[in-house]
Amino acid sequence: MARRSDGRGWNSKLVGAALGVTLLATGASVWTAQAGTADGSSPEATAPAGNHVRPTAVAIAHASDAGTRGINITIDDGPDPEWTPQVLDVLREYGVKATFCMVGPQAQAHPDLVKKVVAAGHRLCDHSVSHDTAMDKKSEAYQSQQILDAERLITKASGGVRPMYYRAPGGAFTPYSRKLAASRGMRPLGWNVDSKDFERPGTETIVATVERELPNGPTLLFHDAGGDRTQTVEALRRVLPRLKEQGYSFGFPVR
Ligand SMILES: [Zn+2]
Repeated sequence: MARRSDGRGWNSKLVGAALGVTLLATGASVWTAQAGTADGSSPEATAPAGNHVRPTAVAIAHASDAGTRGINITIDDGPDPEWTPQVLDVLREYGVKATFCMVGPQAQAHPDLVKKVVAAGHRLCDHSVSHDTAMDKKSEAYQSQQILDAERLITKASGGVRPMYYRAPGGAFTPYSRKLAASRGMRPLGWNVDSKDFERPGTETIVATVERELPNGPTLLFHDAGGDRTQTVEALRRVLPRLKEQGYSFGFPVR
């Protein structure tokens, strides 16, 4: 199925604007702790009666729980039998925990990979059933089916570990989808830096894009499915140690 990169469209600009980037005199950047506070103070969604899922905030999360020099690696569109294991290998090599935004039917098709992701200490994120980047123009019934069916498929594939986030395909969130996801304990998850790995511009370009756009904020977007991800794997192999050398640490998006 043809897929569009998540980074296109209006969302990434809004994300950067909303985050509040603090530029230091040196030209280096940090991300204000206020980003997390602002997100955390948003009203929580109401959980449907009769279940024990703990609702989370409806605001789109970008901040890192690893602090002002924290980075969140997020990996979208898998799991994929060829690329997910390679991404897992690189993450393990550098001791990095990441958040995997999975498409429901792929989780269903590869439960072994979902369980490996969880066993390695990474977190799960609901990335819908059909990866419809025009979801924000569809009915609430459709959005609900896309989100809840994927939640169910991912949770079943993982052996009962629930996705902790919801990332709309292409960033096509709506107030309704954010509220619904939050009511199911899945924090809406944005991104600040689109590595543009999906377009396969070359490993060098992916690395350069990440370094250039790092001041936008802590949540980085990569993909482990949707085509040949050799460049993604290589780019991670370069980016992760370099960020460590620069004093960054790796964490998860705030919930
Ligand atoms: Zn995606």
